[in-house]
Amino acid sequence: MKLFRTAGLCSAALIALAACTMQEETNLLVREWTGPFGGVPPFDQVEVDDFKPALEQGMALNLAEIDAITDNAEPATFENTIAPLERSGKALNRAIASYWVWASTMSTDEFREVESELEPKLAAFQDQINQNADLFARIEAVYESPEKDQLTTEQQRLVWDYYTDFVRAGANLSEADKARVAEINLRLATLYTDFSSNLLHDEESYVLYLNEDQLSGLPESFVEAAAAAATEREYDGKYAITNTRSSMDPFLTYSDERDLREQVWRTYYNRGDNGDEYDNNAGISEILQLRAERTKLQGYETFAHRAIEKQVAGTPEAAMDLLMKVWPFAVARVGEEVADMQAIANAEGADITIAAWDYRYYAEKVRKDKYDLDANEVKQYLQLEKLREAMFWASGQLYGFEFEQVDNVPVYHPDVRVWEVTRDGAHVGLWYFDPYARTGKRSGAWMNDYRAQERMDSEVTTIVSNNSNFVKGTPGEPVLISWDDAETMFHEFGHAIHGLNSDVTYPSLSGTNVARDYVEFPSQINERWLSTPEVLNQFALHHETGEPIPQELVDKIKQAATFNQGFATTEYLASALVDMKFHMIADPGDIDPDAFEREALAEIGMPDEIPMRHRTPQFAHIFSSEGYAAGYYSYLWAEVFTADAFEAFLEADGPYDPEVAKRLYDNVMSVGNTIDPAEGYRNFRGRDFDTNALMRDRGFPVDE
Ligand SMILES: [Zn+2]
Repeated sequence: MKLFRTAGLCSAALIALAACTMQEETNLLVREWTGPFGGVPPFDQVEVDDFKPALEQGMALNLAEIDAITDNAEPATFENTIAPLERSGKALNRAIASYWVWASTMSTDEFREVESELEPKLAAFQDQINQNADLFARIEAVYESPEKDQLTTEQQRLVWDYYTDFVRAGANLSEADKARVAEINLRLATLYTDFSSNLLHDEESYVLYLNEDQLSGLPESFVEAAAAAATEREYDGKYAITNTRSSMDPFLTYSDERDLREQVWRTYYNRGDNGDEYDNNAGISEILQLRAERTKLQGYETFAHRAIEKQVAGTPEAAMDLLMKVWPFAVARVGEEVADMQAIANAEGADITIAAWDYRYYAEKVRKDKYDLDANEVKQYLQLEKLREAMFWASGQLYGFEFEQVDNVPVYHPDVRVWEVTRDGAHVGLWYFDPYARTGKRSGAWMNDYRAQERMDSEVTTIVSNNSNFVKGTPGEPVLISWDDAETMFHEFGHAIHGLNSDVTYPSLSGTNVARDYVEFPSQINERWLSTPEVLNQFALHHETGEPIPQELVDKIKQAATFNQGFATTEYLASALVDMKFHMIADPGDIDPDAFEREALAEIGMPDEIPMRHRTPQFAHIFSSEGYAAGYYSYLWAEVFTADAFEAFLEADGPYDPEVAKRLYDNVMSVGNTIDPAEGYRNFRGRDFDTNALMRDRGFPVDE
């Protein structure tokens, strides 16, 4: 089967793969999993020293499996070529399941050394398979054989998937071109790693230390965290504003000190762009040149054309059309938002013109003024464990899932808990939950796949995890989270239930292995159940009184839902548009990314008051791997499906309408990549998707 390609959804890293020598002993990490539920990962026995031999052994085993396929003297058939290909690589994937857990949640200096040695090897290994001429010849023979018509629909889709992926990787190229592609991929693997470490350097090295008299406006919880961050860095008595989004965003929202806001803003948006040895511009220029050169060898017009070919959008033009459809409304909304903010500033006698470092600050004042919504008040009703129960309950209503915590499954950290998922009493899979922040765990929230559902030879069940970075409270005290964090929990759980709902035969087509601009649809739509009265009345309970969240507060949340959409949409769209423009250049030559960004933004009329959400030298989605390169548009594309699909529930009997839920399960949640997503969606909705649903959802005008 194909290798697990991502480090988890909502993250960007691509797995690439490298050759090696066979070990005598079978490494623990590649061995068949033992224990309950058809075997579980041996997380409690992992040693960092095991990773290198395990991955090397896994790669060697995989190459031996491929050799056995190509050594077959019989003419190629589905059964002697595609089927064994699907069975191959399982040992490597078992090792990689643990490798990714360590890479994303248990990283150490020792592990990072192993990682930087293994990543180029994995890249080379992947090319060794993609460029195997004998293997490709057999895949091509099956693809072109008239007998293909007698295969099942799922088998035909699998053959098509393998064939197109091999062609796209350059399996048809001359030996000289293949060698050049492999050389490019090796160089890119290093450039991607450099990009990430430069960014990390600038995030860790620029810390602003404040004195007690510079904290005006900042909420108590933020001040406490800033004090702890200063102490951690041996600046006792000071307050550390670190150069990360989770520090910058609240600081700019609440700090009354305009000069400091400007300083924090500039430092944050200059990450990777400081003209020193950690500057990312030269690396980006080389990445773009190498991508373009490789694209040309592979026979595509531009990198974007190749990247989007197998997505639902199909072409970069279609993706650009959607972005540009929303763009003018987002920019117009920014104009209105800035006018509201300027009015408040004027009324305060601030004597300023709203600048980029004022946006969040005055937006917060407008929010209080217009919607009277206090985020802190909402938080009192949002207990982490109650919300987990809420997610379980909603998925039970929609998909029939039941959850029971189990303690007979090994975990890699004491904070991790595991639940068995069943439906009608039958085992469906396992869900791991790793909620708390710790050193060595990357920021953000994501879902990770340890094992995909399939039934090629026997029934194999899903194992998935959800990961987040909540601050662990005092034992016995509930952890309170924000409304945004609650939405994110439902989002990641949506990825998990997409995996758990999978009901397919072949592992490569399983669960979340769908087009990049479709995969966020099951997760985004799951967010919608958070705000249903059924969930709020049962689970959004005050942590002290146990009272459900008052309707009045819920109404305020709903009214404020489209608030500040000018800002949020514009900062996102600008990044998505610049990503696309970079990757639609056929010949970037000696491109200056900084100048290109400026010109691209001027061309689309970017408002002065907003920067790109990810400026080019910080745009890890597109430059620390190929994960979201020419693909940042995907979030919006998936939102079109999300908004339109949720309207299907509202047009029926509401969010828990069983018939609509069943259609969603039948055509989206359970089918993985066994059918074309556009077709699956049409079967669900009875028509093609409607982009106006997205416009309504964001509170933008729609011409019907
Ligand atoms: Zn996601």
